[in-house]
Amino acid sequence: MSKTEEQMRYEFYELAQMPCCGGERGFYNGPRGGACTNIMCGHCGATFNIGPREFIQQIGEPDAEALAKVQASSTGAPA
Ligand SMILES: [Zn+2]
Repeated sequence: MSKTEEQMRYEFYELAQMPCCGGERGFYNGPRGGACTNIMCGHCGATFNIGPREFIQQIGEPDAEALAKVQASSTGAPA
């Protein structure tokens, strides 16, 4: 059975770590269009497009400086 966009979104919300940078879960909901929702990582600024049927696509690259920062800090204890 294929998942709805909403189920995909909730699965993404449940992730303990961001797939883009390994930072602790933290993101902003962006604009929704059609069946998809844009989500931006609150750590590195990478953006994702989440849609139905296992569809999670990274559509924006992380900011290099922010990425280096979050990767440096995520090796320690959780904030
Ligand atoms: Zn990130």
